[in-house]
Amino acid sequence: MNNDNPWIRAKLQLTKASEKLGLDKLLFSMLSEPDRTIEVSLPIQMENGSIKVFRGYRVQHSNIQGPYKGGIRYHPKVDMDEVKALAFWMTMKNAVVDVPFGGAKGGIAFDPKSLSEIELEKLTRQFSRKLLDVVGAYKDVPAPDMNTNSKIMGWIVDEFKVQSEKLKVKYSEGELRAVVTGKPLEMGGLEGRVVATGFGGAQVLMSMLKKLGKSQKAVPAGRQGLTVAIMGFGNVGRFVAHYLQKMGFKIVALSDSRGGIYVPDGIEDTEEINKYKEEKGFLSGCYCVGSVCGFKNKKKLGGRDIKPDEVLELPVDILVPAALENVITHNNADKIKAKIILELANGPTTLEGDKILNKKGIIVIPDILANSGGVATSYFEWYQNLHERHWTKERVLKKLKEKMEIATNEVYRASLEYKTTLREAAYIQALKRIEKSWRNKNFSSRNSQ
Ligand code: NAD
Repeated sequence: MNNDNPWIRAKLQLTKASEKLGLDKLLFSMLSEPDRTIEVSLPIQMENGSIKVFRGYRVQHSNIQGPYKGGIRYHPKVDMDEVKALAFWMTMKNAVVDVPFGGAKGGIAFDPKSLSEIELEKLTRQFSRKLLDVVGAYKDVPAPDMNTNSKIMGWIVDEFKVQSEKLKVKYSEGELRAVVTGKPLEMGGLEGRVVATGFGGAQVLMSMLKKLGKSQKAVPAGRQGLTVAIMGFGNVGRFVAHYLQKMGFKIVALSDSRGGIYVPDGIEDTEEINKYKEEKGFLSGCYCVGSVCGFKNKKKLGGRDIKPDEVLELPVDILVPAALENVITHNNADKIKAKIILELANGPTTLEGDKILNKKGIIVIPDILANSGGVATSYFEWYQNLHERHWTKERVLKKLKEKMEIATNEVYRASLEYKTTLREAAYIQALKRIEKSWRNKNFSSRNSQ
């Protein structure tokens, strides 16, 4: 891993795409810094009586397209620059997939696995209280991200409700539910949300392969398809593995933070690995304790243990980073053998890493397109809450598939029109859409000064 600052990278990406598009200079300045950054102190009493102080962040990057929208991450490496970059990428991603949201992100810097469930809930509820003034269905709508899930989203919604009642702020039932997405089903969550990012990523890959004229090999069912290695086996990695396998791709390697497995002949059923992790139990009802590298049938399948990062350098057709950012860098990009990279993590490739991949002719399907399935369904959840609707999982996935196909085609077309990489094309496509909304809202240079 390296120290490439994601916020500097995000700004460079914005600059390059803006120049190519000829973006309005005032709009460029607006997007070059977040609208608002929030940093809060979160002291809590631990179960052993000691006091620990945590640091929480929320960055609202832009609301030109609609309410701020973006996940909340729990990880020791969370800091302001990381959250700023992630919020900027949310603005871009929401515009690429065409949902009426702006961009935001948040997080708390700590290792969630070091807290008990009681401590985790206390910390989450305190974070929710500190964000009370700035979140809301029409203001800023958080969602899950790394190390957060529907249970944690449920605590945030509940705390928002309790505090709003205390302060006698009136919201409709729908508005209270729509304050967060990725909730448990019984609190207004969406059927299919949990699989959405992985499912959406698989659809993007299929659509892009068709455009590139490479689809035939992927179609046969069973273990004949293009080979895939996946880094990360959480909310995203687990489901992209499942759906790609169903589509006929051959999943040969998986890894998580503790290690990985490599089975050159293909892993029979990735769901079994998930079952194995679940059998090992959950930590505090929130995090799985097991690891993919502990999979009991590994030897029988002819597989071997690998280190978590080794998954990046295996001889495969498709590599799917679905864990952390900055994992493909100048140190390892040269060793990558995959022909296509499907970026499901946010910001997995550094600037230097990206240059090397481009030089090698590796096709990178960029994060702001590839992982936008999550936020597309977050929009469905938000809409359902506000309009008191309920869609089945089949309907949600059908609508999502259509959305991902349209977004993929638009990015591909932009790459041809502007003779550029898919990454730059995705930024160009996003900026075009944002500029249109901005002009429609009369935010033009003349009117907004
Ligand atoms: P998660 O916490 O559910 O899972 C993360 C996985 O990565 C875990 O399996 C963990 O063990 C693994 N991991 C951590 N460090 C690793 C390492 N060094 N090597 C290999 N594996 C490692 O998180 P998630 O929700 O699946 O998110 C993964 C990525 O996808 C993040 O970058 C996130 O921002 C992005 N993303 C998530 C969503 C979503 O809907 N959850 C949507 C868009 C983007």
